[in-house]
Amino acid sequence: MQNKNLYVIIGARPQFIKYAPLAAEIKKINNINEIIIHTGQHYDKNMSGVFFEQLNIKEPDINLNINNVSRGEMVGEMIKKIDKEFKKNIPDIVLLFGDTNSTLAGAVAASSFQCEVIHIEAGLRSFNKNMPEEHNRIVADHLSSILCVTSEEPKNNLKTEGFSKNSIFMTGDIMLDNFNMVKDRILSAGMYKQMNLKKNSYVLGTIHRQENTHKKNRLKSIFNTLNNISNPNFPVVIPIHPATKSKLGDLEVDTSNLVICEPLDYISFLSLVSDSSYVITDSGGLQKEAYYLKKKSIVLRSETEWVELVDKRESYLVDPKNINDIYKSIDLVKDKKTDNFSIYGDGKAAKLIVKIIQSKLD
Ligand code: UDP
Repeated sequence: MQNKNLYVIIGARPQFIKYAPLAAEIKKINNINEIIIHTGQHYDKNMSGVFFEQLNIKEPDINLNINNVSRGEMVGEMIKKIDKEFKKNIPDIVLLFGDTNSTLAGAVAASSFQCEVIHIEAGLRSFNKNMPEEHNRIVADHLSSILCVTSEEPKNNLKTEGFSKNSIFMTGDIMLDNFNMVKDRILSAGMYKQMNLKKNSYVLGTIHRQENTHKKNRLKSIFNTLNNISNPNFPVVIPIHPATKSKLGDLEVDTSNLVICEPLDYISFLSLVSDSSYVITDSGGLQKEAYYLKKKSIVLRSETEWVELVDKRESYLVDPKNINDIYKSIDLVKDKKTDNFSIYGDGKAAKLIVKIIQSKLD
């Protein structure tokens, strides 16, 4: 029997992380020709290479090197180049993750071929059409044949949009698989010591979402507030996303109380989260990881896709338009442990996804 072509489309930091547990499981499948396409959306060593090394992912087969261009140009170039690759080895299965421009481009390119398209983290909705991520995930869902969901909420979103229940698969959160895979390394890393921080006496912050970084006043008020919250005995520590760093460079804003560092590798980053008092973020993945590490978070957004965390008071939304509301939320999160329950499955998503892949190969 001829090997089937399985393409993996990745390009941004959270996608490398989501792919890692699957990479390990896919290795066990026979009769498969796995082709990893890295679009190049994230390309710095600390936004890309380090995750391949640390999470034991093989080097991408193809790197399209598309970055630092406008969204339209990026998605257009990606579709063109992915299509060219697909024509060399016709895809049987295409794997997509999350909601980035690379996800969108992979979905559109795959739609010209008679193949199965698997979308991991399907059905999430912010219902905010100003977010590029919302466009990306909606299009990816509608061009996919297999929709892997993390919980009931995204499943219901898909049903409301008319998806057949036969195309929806409850797998749980693949980031939990990854987290479990490296949990011991995270808990023993002690990154706070290397950064001269005191355990449970700092806040871990990340800001990178376009709605917060692309408006000068918004970014300025967020950083002014974080700087006010921060003090030498209880600093706010920010491993800064390159996109945020470049926007911040154009602003006059006092960051003198903050501890700002370069983006960290996965283990060091989550080690810092695990020894923090609480988290302030606009990241999608970090909302869940903070919960897995039993830390509460303040989410600097007007809405979130991870609504269960807000419902269970694991995360508290603070609309950056009313950034001063953050002060009311701090007492709700500071040094508060989460209850130990599992919203997003049991960390077996990769195995379930591989079973689905195998059923399509037969
Ligand atoms: N992350 C990391 N190092 C950092 C900051 C984040 O490894 O310095 C990880 C984090 O643990 C999470 C992922 O990157 O798994 C989140 O990526 P990001 O916030 O860029 O994207 P989003 O989740 O919002 O799509």
